[in-house]
Amino acid sequence: MFKKISNLTFLVMLSVTAFAQTVPPNATPDGQTPQRRRNAPRPFAVTIVNNTKVKLDTAQVNAAFKTTYPPFAAADGYRTKREVIMRVIDTANTFTISAIPGEIIVNSKWIKKKKNFNNLQVNLQEALRKNWASVDTIKKDGYQLVFINKNSDFNPVIKKELIETYFKVFPTLVSTFNDKTTREVLFVTDTAYKGVAEASGNRILFSTTYMNAHPTDIDIVTHECMHLVQGYGYGSGPVWLTEGIADFIRYKYGVDNIGSKWFLPDFTAKQNEKKYENSYRITARFFEWIDQKVKPGLIIQIDKELRSHTYNQNTWVSLSGKTIDELWDDYAKNPELALKYSGKERI
Ligand SMILES: [Zn+2]
Repeated sequence: MFKKISNLTFLVMLSVTAFAQTVPPNATPDGQTPQRRRNAPRPFAVTIVNNTKVKLDTAQVNAAFKTTYPPFAAADGYRTKREVIMRVIDTANTFTISAIPGEIIVNSKWIKKKKNFNNLQVNLQEALRKNWASVDTIKKDGYQLVFINKNSDFNPVIKKELIETYFKVFPTLVSTFNDKTTREVLFVTDTAYKGVAEASGNRILFSTTYMNAHPTDIDIVTHECMHLVQGYGYGSGPVWLTEGIADFIRYKYGVDNIGSKWFLPDFTAKQNEKKYENSYRITARFFEWIDQKVKPGLIIQIDKELRSHTYNQNTWVSLSGKTIDELWDDYAKNPELALKYSGKERI
């Protein structure tokens, strides 16, 4: 999957009254709500619900929220809660502050102390980080990876290999295919996520259930990193093409496809039902056939045109002299192919 999320707008509305105020987060002073750009995510907003006698400096709460919550929420991607309630409560002496997506709770007796309030940003950040098992920031040669792990049972060996694969593969893909790709990437592992992996914005989400069960399948990183490099944006080319190219690149640049027994499946007549629209490995093998038998570099040219939004069905004809259906029919007649995974033959 690929989704581009851009221009996050951060806007904070605060209320210190003793009841929850519902204010449209991007309302203008005259009460008019300007229309959001289509597909733009809702802004982040915090509403304070305070039934205690403690008065809070809202500007300082605002600043602490703005600097800590949006980076925290980035780990959840488009699923995140953007409207946050901050409750100030009177409670037992031991409680200080807690925070989960959408809700912050602070103890009035604790926040009343100057030292605690002046450190609200740090305190809030620590409270938010308790939602994660770990967070690591790794930098190398101009590339950064922030690794947020939400599962304390995630195998640390796999985590290390995912990080190593990122630093081996991503710089190569960026410099080879799209120099404009972000150098700052977020990896998130999540127990609640039911898929295998997905890329959106600068974030790659991994299922820990899948990764723990398939520890050698580390070139998922290669496939997902290619999605970041593809950066086609909305409405540029069909999904089967994006996925076929990502697996074609995994085939060519993966660090250990052979070791993980990841292979492009032989052609079968059954593939003729959906042809190249089978996506993933079936499409990737067809692309390798085009690369070897029709025109080397043709698929890379398709990738470029998808990025510049100049791709259409005719692109195949102008690059090869044949429609994609004609190319597939030629492939189906003579699908023999010597495959080399990252330049290596399967034994
Ligand atoms: Zn994909």
